[in-house]
Amino acid sequence: MEVIKNYINGQWVESKSTETLDVVNPATTEVLARVPLSTPSEVETTIQAAKNAFQEWRETPPLTRARYMYTLKDLMEEHFEDLSRVIVEEAGKCIDEARGETRRAIEQVEVAAGIPSLMLGYGLEDIALGIDEDCVRQPLGVFCMIPPFNFPLMVPLWFLPYAVACGNTYIVKPSEQVPLSQRMLFQLMDEVDFPEGVINLINGAKGVVDTLLESPDVRGVSFVGSTPVAKYIYQKAAENGKRVQAQAGAKNFLVVMPDADLDRTVASLLTSFFGCAGERCLSGAVLLAVGDVYEPLRDKFVEASSRLNVGYGLDEAVQMGPVISKRHMERVLGYIEKGVEEGAKLLLDGRDIKVEAYPNGYFIGPTVFDEVSPEMTIANDEIFGPVASIVKVGDLDEAIDIIDANPYGNASSIYTSSGKSAREFKYRVRCGNIGINIGLVAPMAFFPFSGARDSFFGDLHGQGTDAIDFFTEKKVVISRWF
Ligand code: NAD
Repeated sequence: MEVIKNYINGQWVESKSTETLDVVNPATTEVLARVPLSTPSEVETTIQAAKNAFQEWRETPPLTRARYMYTLKDLMEEHFEDLSRVIVEEAGKCIDEARGETRRAIEQVEVAAGIPSLMLGYGLEDIALGIDEDCVRQPLGVFCMIPPFNFPLMVPLWFLPYAVACGNTYIVKPSEQVPLSQRMLFQLMDEVDFPEGVINLINGAKGVVDTLLESPDVRGVSFVGSTPVAKYIYQKAAENGKRVQAQAGAKNFLVVMPDADLDRTVASLLTSFFGCAGERCLSGAVLLAVGDVYEPLRDKFVEASSRLNVGYGLDEAVQMGPVISKRHMERVLGYIEKGVEEGAKLLLDGRDIKVEAYPNGYFIGPTVFDEVSPEMTIANDEIFGPVASIVKVGDLDEAIDIIDANPYGNASSIYTSSGKSAREFKYRVRCGNIGINIGLVAPMAFFPFSGARDSFFGDLHGQGTDAIDFFTEKKVVISRWF
């Protein structure tokens, strides 16, 4: 079985590590490859390669750096289907969801190609007689990225194109569960022919992350993943004097008002709760049904959910794939057990699902709990699977109080035809990404990917102008000529 290579200093190199993990297709359970847990000295070599490449790269004109982005975009377009297919194979998505991910990934490269404008500074003449003041942005050095499993191609690209276009050098440590789409991306970046050491890929898990966090030569860290790991990374990176942004876990509440357009709402809820098998940080988790809408909403939602076609994502007719791993499947099944134990009413039981062609795949069908109370575990913990909990509430105030009481603050949505309710909701809810009649609040590349409270640690988010601020230092020059 092939062991995936690292990409260091412009070369594909075999890891000397004796420890490897299987990369498993979660639908077929076929072992696709092995991923090495690279050694500390390999991580150090990678950091030094990135460090050595920095000076020449920062002196490369931004316009020239932007042209690498154009070439990368063209190659990604050319390999659009190959990239999407790899996402399905390693992460279990449906092919259309994977195509959506690839499109969103390319958009990051497109936006970063605007770096000469994005990176502009500003200045003012005559701040005093004959004295001028200017502010320029400069790159800092080596940055690294630690992504989660659920968007294996896209998430590293929320950061890498901006970092590199700004003149920094970069290291990605892919999620050990899904390293294959990053490998393909780096194969394409190899064709782009970045100067040696500008972009690097090092495989592994916690050990690699710790070496990166401890190195004085790494200037900043971008993390996306679960909240406990985000807290750890935020703290450890800061202790080691680094810039850090850590996008974390989620528990997203969706409020449906009695004046919502029910058919359109249910269609939107289906993708929110069950798209990517509920493994999105923006997935709906709890459905807050306000007043009279409760009964008709519950019935329509359960009926529509029960008709979703579950299977292997390479089949175009499939609407929901498996969850990522056996371990994660058992964790999600544990939460379903817990919901039953705590007295919620299981209206749709995804544990019964059978996918004939792939009997060993990690499939869980759409699962809907009714009569959930806000205190129950299933209404509070991040489950990260296809499990919806319906809570009946009296009014919008009660709904907002429930959202407020949960420590996560990633995303929340309201479905309504009232501008007043919508305004109240967006004004008061303490989540970073707010949807109004939208169930999947995925910010475009030119906006920050926000998040609040236990869903984000830091000041500057991924994407947009936040990314430019994160990856540059502002330098002020005050000058007088005699
Ligand atoms: P995870 O936290 O288990 O792993 C994320 C990364 O951290 C991986 O690369 C992993 O190798 C590394 N890691 C894991 N444990 C570590 C440790 N103890 N020390 C150092 N590094 C460690 O997350 P996951 O299960 O891969 O991804 C799912 C999570 O990501 C969910 O909680 C989801 O909400 C979150 N997520 C958040 C966003 C966002 O933008 N807020 C986006 C996508 C996913």
